[in-house]
Amino acid sequence: MKSKRNKRSWAEPYKIKMVELLRMTTREERKKALEYAGYNTFLLKSKDVYIDLLTDSGTSAMSDRQWAGMMLGDEAYAGSENFYHFESAVHENYGYKYVVPTHQGRGAENIVSKIMIKPGDIIPGNMYFTTTRLHQELAGGTFVDIIIDEAHDSQSKHPFKGNGNLTKLESLIKIYGSKKIPYISIATSVNMAGGQPISIQNLREIRKLTEKHDIKVIHDMTRVAENAWFIKQREKGYQNKSVKSIVKEICSLTDGATMSAKKDALVNIGGFLALNDKALYEEASNMVVVYEGLHTYGGLAGRDLEAMAIGIGESVNDDHIRARVGQVEYLGMQMLEAKIPIVQPIGGHGIFVDAKRFLPHLKQLQFPAQALAAEIYLDSGVRSMERGIVSAGRNKDTGDHYFPELELVRLTIPRRVYTQAHMDVVAESLEEVFHNRKKIKGFKMVHEPKYLRFFQARFKKL
Ligand SMILES: *Cc1c(COP(=O)(O)O)cnc(C)c1O
Repeated sequence: MKSKRNKRSWAEPYKIKMVELLRMTTREERKKALEYAGYNTFLLKSKDVYIDLLTDSGTSAMSDRQWAGMMLGDEAYAGSENFYHFESAVHENYGYKYVVPTHQGRGAENIVSKIMIKPGDIIPGNMYFTTTRLHQELAGGTFVDIIIDEAHDSQSKHPFKGNGNLTKLESLIKIYGSKKIPYISIATSVNMAGGQPISIQNLREIRKLTEKHDIKVIHDMTRVAENAWFIKQREKGYQNKSVKSIVKEICSLTDGATMSAKKDALVNIGGFLALNDKALYEEASNMVVVYEGLHTYGGLAGRDLEAMAIGIGESVNDDHIRARVGQVEYLGMQMLEAKIPIVQPIGGHGIFVDAKRFLPHLKQLQFPAQALAAEIYLDSGVRSMERGIVSAGRNKDTGDHYFPELELVRLTIPRRVYTQAHMDVVAESLEEVFHNRKKIKGFKMVHEPKYLRFFQARFKKL
């Protein structure tokens, strides 16, 4: 029989076994909390937050299997059983030859930057990421953005806004010479562009060009499974491939990777540096002892390694990723219906609200995205974060602010944590704030930390 219904709903491929109770707050309480936090959502206390969309980092819900794995922690200082399980999960799912665990992504970035970058080197990449660029700079290198121009345009509907621009890359190689470019830094699901994917075709072209010039490709694989899902949806020839096989193909086009397992890999803490080159791996496994811990634990407990090993396997499951990206899309579609300006296409890990178009009456130096994030919290207790001029920081040579094209508020969805009803509450709050947008005032920065200022900066209302 033919069904009369033309729409079939999907639902999460899990059910809830344990709940964490949330505290509801009044507007008056939230007003006080914001003042205490210097209008920086990073400085709010979690107990004052209702729906926490600050980040998808380390905030995922682990599965019952991961929790069971935590009980199997082998807390030996050296050669823990859990390390070998983790190592085989990396081999099976990502294909890299060697791996050292680190406490989180930036631990891996520190090591790879220290072993590969010399002072004066250039590191091209498909848009910067805060910690990645900082470690490159601390090692004496300079990051140069080679992402396609569409990535900087919140209205471009390009299906692969994470792609690199080959012409920009080629001209960098011409200007500096390949000796000055130790590697190109390629992120999957480009965070700062709004969780936008890179295509396999573009990655192949980058691979071909860099191989010709003997330049390595280091993959920021923090959200590789989400990227693979978009390839499956959008790239010709991939519709019938599994996310797992696409993930492996992406990794096979690169020489090594840094991973924040706190994102895709569904753990609350953990990361790693993976490499195919034996000599580089040996340097890395020596360096990890200095900064993280022995190469078989890298700053993690055995139980953390076990949870990460299991999480990696769960993260490349098609049903999981469909629901994960589907929930983000569900929220994004509601915002689009309400005519709220967001980055399109909708990305993999969150909704990025275009604060320049939301608050056209504010100048970028009045920190519109920071002001908007504070206003959303005040309205509903929903915590988001700034991804604009505050996050972009200052030029290390001139000391001037960077003025990024994209001035965004990021509503990042933790994996497997919230329901669609929570998403409805978020969308309704954004609608309310949008309705009253003309009343929102800008900020001035009254405290500015030297490194990664967005985490701890404080503001006052103008
Ligand atoms: C989070 C993140 C990192 C850094 O990882 P941490 O685990 O936070 O240290 C690096 N790159 C990208 C794209 C990220 O999202």
